[in-house]
Amino acid sequence: MRIKLNCNYQNLKKNYLFSEIARRVAEYGASNPPRRIVRLGIGDVTLPLTPSVTRAMENAVAEMGKKETFQGYPPSFGYDFLLSAISAHYAAYGADIGTDEIFVSDGAKSDAGNITDIFGSNPVLITDPVYPVYYDSNVMAGNGVTFVPANRQNGFLPPPPAEKTEGALIYLCSPNNPTGAVYDKAGLKAWVDYALETGSLIIFDSAYEAYIKGGLPHTIYQIEGARDCAIEICSFSKTAGFTGVRCSWTVVPRGLASGGVRIAELWARRQATKFNGVSYIVQRGAEAALSEKGYSECMELVGYYMENARVIAELLNKKGIYYTGGVCAPYIWMQCQDGLDSWSFFDKLLKEAQVVGTPGAGFGANGEGFFRLTAFGTREDTYEAVRRLDAVL
Ligand code: PLP
Repeated sequence: MRIKLNCNYQNLKKNYLFSEIARRVAEYGASNPPRRIVRLGIGDVTLPLTPSVTRAMENAVAEMGKKETFQGYPPSFGYDFLLSAISAHYAAYGADIGTDEIFVSDGAKSDAGNITDIFGSNPVLITDPVYPVYYDSNVMAGNGVTFVPANRQNGFLPPPPAEKTEGALIYLCSPNNPTGAVYDKAGLKAWVDYALETGSLIIFDSAYEAYIKGGLPHTIYQIEGARDCAIEICSFSKTAGFTGVRCSWTVVPRGLASGGVRIAELWARRQATKFNGVSYIVQRGAEAALSEKGYSECMELVGYYMENARVIAELLNKKGIYYTGGVCAPYIWMQCQDGLDSWSFFDKLLKEAQVVGTPGAGFGANGEGFFRLTAFGTREDTYEAVRRLDAVL
């Protein structure tokens, strides 16, 4: 063929993290390990959908089967009933987000990856270690990326860099995947101030906001000035167990503009052109997840996972091992022991405890020397993993 390809794809690092984990686990598994291998590496939920959600989706399926209530293409940006429910969800956090500022989508991953479509070539700041989508999508778009190091010195919550970058796209994720670290209001305010001062835009990923306890901010719109400098992406995946259902949203405040062009208009155009909406059935399920009863059921799911996190954190506290996360996030980001790098530590835990986690180096250079354990396993597996780790750490 003589077609030109997007040569930026050549600049992507080979995404070998989960395939390399699978390869090492399979190779070790083939050598007759003494015990079943316990997996605390997954970032996927394990509990089923809640009763309110399944009931709402069943009802919606029945409606789709009747001539009078059948629905065709959904509205591009979401049904009013779901937009209102999301708006009310923000109101509960004291954030005023209008239904016209919310764009329902099929996943925070899609939106985080697709958002580059509406921007030109800008400097990009991304914290490291990081959820890989932000970096990879910018590499695909041919954008240069500057990493902002998250490390033990800053508690994996890096402040804005001293050097001011004008007109940057800034990716922040709190609670963070992989570190589980959560910004407080002052930490986020520093980023909002930086963005306002430099004419930059924050793309804030709040996919794990439901795991926050206490007074920490659930949304960047709890921070003064954020409506003038931030987009927010959130998801039902980890709040309501929707990883296999697919529903999320992006907030673009109506006043956000650059060079006189409204960003919400560009995002609306992008979505209306390339995306045909989320199914009625799924949106009814999502609406139910945000109802009073539905949300309390979701909080039971979250509570289950967070009890797992507590058990893991308790072990690390007992051992005096440094970690972040596990309190307001389903991830625990622990320091590798015995001076091991993160892949050597992975091998050690696999061989000595038959426990699988995720090597921190897979999330960026600053992840080296750290290791991610997740709270998304079953209770039994988590207890078993903790018992085994207790013996080898
Ligand atoms: N954002 C973060 C930080 C994540 O960790 C994940 C999934 O692991 C996602 C977004 C993806 O969310 P969704 O399932 O809505 O695509």
